Amino acid sequence: MGDPKRQDAQDKEGARMRRHLAILIAASALTAPAASHAQTAEKPTDPSRARFLALYKEMVETDTTYSVGSCTLAAEQVAARLKAAGFPDADVHVLVPDGKPRFGALAAILHGTDKTAPPLLLLAHIDVVEAKRSDWKRDPFKLIEEDGYYYGRGTNDDKAMAASFADILIRYRQEGFQPRRDIKLALTCGEETSDQFDGAQYLTEHDRWAVQAGMALNEGGAGLLDDQGRPLANAIQAGEKIYQDYRLVVTNPGGHSSRPRKDNAVYQLAHALVRLEASPFPVRLSPVTRAYFTAMASLTPDPLAADLRAMGGPNLPPADVLARVAQDPAWNSTMRTTCVATQVNAGHAPNALAQHAEANVNCRILPDETVEQTRLALEQAIDDKDVVVSLAAQPSPQSPAPPLTDAVLGPARQVSNQIWPSVPLIPTMATGGTDGAFTNAAGIPTYGLGGIFRDPDGDGIHGLNERIRIRSLYDSREFLYRVVRLYASTG
Ligand SMILES: [Zn+2]
Repeated sequence: MGDPKRQDAQDKEGARMRRHLAILIAASALTAPAASHAQTAEKPTDPSRARFLALYKEMVETDTTYSVGSCTLAAEQVAARLKAAGFPDADVHVLVPDGKPRFGALAAILHGTDKTAPPLLLLAHIDVVEAKRSDWKRDPFKLIEEDGYYYGRGTNDDKAMAASFADILIRYRQEGFQPRRDIKLALTCGEETSDQFDGAQYLTEHDRWAVQAGMALNEGGAGLLDDQGRPLANAIQAGEKIYQDYRLVVTNPGGHSSRPRKDNAVYQLAHALVRLEASPFPVRLSPVTRAYFTAMASLTPDPLAADLRAMGGPNLPPADVLARVAQDPAWNSTMRTTCVATQVNAGHAPNALAQHAEANVNCRILPDETVEQTRLALEQAIDDKDVVVSLAAQPSPQSPAPPLTDAVLGPARQVSNQIWPSVPLIPTMATGGTDGAFTNAAGIPTYGLGGIFRDPDGDGIHGLNERIRIRSLYDSREFLYRVVRLYASTG
């Protein structure tokens, strides 16, 4: 037994590191107020940077919220810049869904030399989460530079990648770079409100030509900085859990509450939820999550590192190891399907026995498990035929995790090492959701890869005062410029 104080320090260090690293897999579902760091802003020195900044600024300053914004306007602005850079009209389209004038998408193409080679798709969403001026320190729809950061709604999620992708196509065209594969750009709307309308899903169903590809790059793989702004790890995301809500309903004849009976809708539902809480889904690891845990082991102090190495091994580790690793919510969510009660609603009057009690159970399903399998597993765990378990919404598409082949990992690692030497590139499976769910489901292998290094608090994404480090923005732009060039040059 080592020195308890050192053990404590190690535990503290381990816990701090775990909190940091959990961010890597949370995809786009983070909310936390910002802490700023004073560092000198990078002035765009070369003209291409100035052009990029102008495109990015215009995009951030165009409100593309679901409530009042217009993705169509943002798409038209990018279309104008592509055409000004020499793209022919035939290769640049603003696609507006029927009856949805504000939810337009941009589709563009840089033609490759080899029409037999499967195209490469650059996918990013231009819609943003709502932002109320009165809640923010600064105008959320103004690109504001402060302390080495750009502030504004969407500066990080996801207009940094959207602007970098559009800028890359302009740079390639102006440099006369001819890729082997066609490079397609799709800037879509609705990612943040996919329960209402999702532009990526719409394109896969209505304008398939705009997104059909052998491989796609999307948001979902971000880098992580430590408290001092030093890069800890970069990430490539391959696969994401399926989002599905289920409804649990109990009905009862009810009656007068002065004469309570044994059968009671509220208690019956409560007992069902308690049994559900006590029934975690089985651990199932995939090549991606094994690789993830192995990489995590290299960034985590012992004794936890040994457990993580076991998670990365060929056989399922023993129960005590699984239990220790599962103590971390992000790691628990990586190793199994999770279902949790999020809303409960029951009763119609304070003085009457409830006739109806229902709960919403939100599940995040491993990519190779199905929505129906999960519904049956819920029924089994609840083990009460009077508790009706049904889907609370249309079933989410089954989206298999794309293969993490050398052809995918190689270029990403190569360029990541060039820009962030000795910083590991970690494979991840997103526990949150992206539009990759729709493109993977449509048979377009989609990888989260952006190289945007974020602060441990998540840069205020989806929250107040969203920001991006100026250094992180330009490094990501350069990372994507180089890695897309590599992917587009191979077949
Ligand atoms: Zn996003």
